[in-house]
Amino acid sequence: MADNEIDDSASARQLPGDSLLAVNGGDPVRKTPWPTYDRGAVCVHPEDEEAALRAIRSHLYFRYDYRPAQETECARFEAELCRYFETRHALATSSGTTALALAIMAAGIEPGSLIACPGFTFAATPSAIILAGCVPFLVEVDENLHLDVADLRSRWTPQVKAIMVVHMRGFAGDMGALTAFADEMGVPVFEDAVPALGAELDGRKLGTFGLAGAFSTQSDKALNSGEGGFLLTDDSALFARATVLSGAYEGRLRRHFPGAEPPIATDLDLPLLSFRMDEIRAALLRAELDRLPDRLAAFHRNYDYVAAALADVAGIHIRRPVAAGAYLGEAFIFLVPHGRAEWFARALCHEGIEARNLGSDADHNIRAFWNWRFLFRGMETAAIKQLLPNATRYLQRAVDIPLSSTLSRADCDQLVAAVRKVAGALASTADLAPTVLDTGEGSAWAGQR
Ligand SMILES: *Cc1c(COP(=O)(O)O)cnc(C)c1O
Repeated sequence: MADNEIDDSASARQLPGDSLLAVNGGDPVRKTPWPTYDRGAVCVHPEDEEAALRAIRSHLYFRYDYRPAQETECARFEAELCRYFETRHALATSSGTTALALAIMAAGIEPGSLIACPGFTFAATPSAIILAGCVPFLVEVDENLHLDVADLRSRWTPQVKAIMVVHMRGFAGDMGALTAFADEMGVPVFEDAVPALGAELDGRKLGTFGLAGAFSTQSDKALNSGEGGFLLTDDSALFARATVLSGAYEGRLRRHFPGAEPPIATDLDLPLLSFRMDEIRAALLRAELDRLPDRLAAFHRNYDYVAAALADVAGIHIRRPVAAGAYLGEAFIFLVPHGRAEWFARALCHEGIEARNLGSDADHNIRAFWNWRFLFRGMETAAIKQLLPNATRYLQRAVDIPLSSTLSRADCDQLVAAVRKVAGALASTADLAPTVLDTGEGSAWAGQR
């Protein structure tokens, strides 16, 4: 039997008729497509549409025009972000990637510096580091897929000039440990808080722990304007430089410092990168921001319901947050025994639940570091995986299911039923042939059973 395959005939024999896996020809748990943003499962209300239409009908699409700044959609959006996140400054941008790059550039990190980032993140994170002229320095993640601070310490070199933490799939990084370590090393922390917009750790919003936090408003994120993003910081000089870099030329920087002098002497020392947001998107986002708390509550409700309903399932390790409730709830990730995740995800897809094995060899998931070939020209995949063996192992075992905030209780029940069904088949196969499970995988895994 091949490593990735379950003895399907054996599991089929073990289970009652209605438990026959869809992947083996049984009835799927769900027959309609799983709701995802790219199928239109998004939260856009009539009020949001109206706001965008008002901006379109105004014919004033550029954020810097004859109007006083405080009458523009972009400036109002930024002011509302400052209130919501309790930060001094916010800058609306063209994307999350550009917000990340602006943070690095505006912090004055020398081009060519190493910037630490985890081996589990969307490829936009290392890409933004490159866009800022720096070099990604990859760090392990632990079994809960959080950046591993102990590994960062053991790999540390003085060429590392900043740490980019990623609250990946909406789960907070361990900001206490990370900021303490960064302080010890004398480098800033940037937060890729893109997947965690609105999520909190210990009562504080993610994206407000580091020197600067970056967010995206691409359609898959908690605020959706198709494309877009923003940067948050309390550092006025960083904010001023980021604003000029984003494209505030000929004194337009002043509009971002009402009633005060900008903290940089001139805007002529920096290039203009045109990473601005436009008025139509800002209008849409301002309207969506009004209902963000409802949306966040829906994410949490769905996630908590699913996680509680699956907590007792043998053979799966549900990703653990660094603190109670420190996640958005936009995705449900769990680990299964080594060599089973690709099959598990495929079986779930057959049951009608969209799932992916993050570290699959069959599809090049751009969230696994070994697929960032742009960092490793000329290297074989096996050699790349050797650079971060733990991240490789955990991603190979990880199953990832998107949880749209539009999910109904019935959708969640189907997800739960499908995971139970597939895990049940896996367990019964394991009972028949215990050697199928890679029990040498480690105590962390054994502790979950
Ligand atoms: C989506 C995403 C980004 C990129 O945001 P864009 O607006 O698409 O540029 C960056 N980092 C993470 C972790 C993301 O999920």
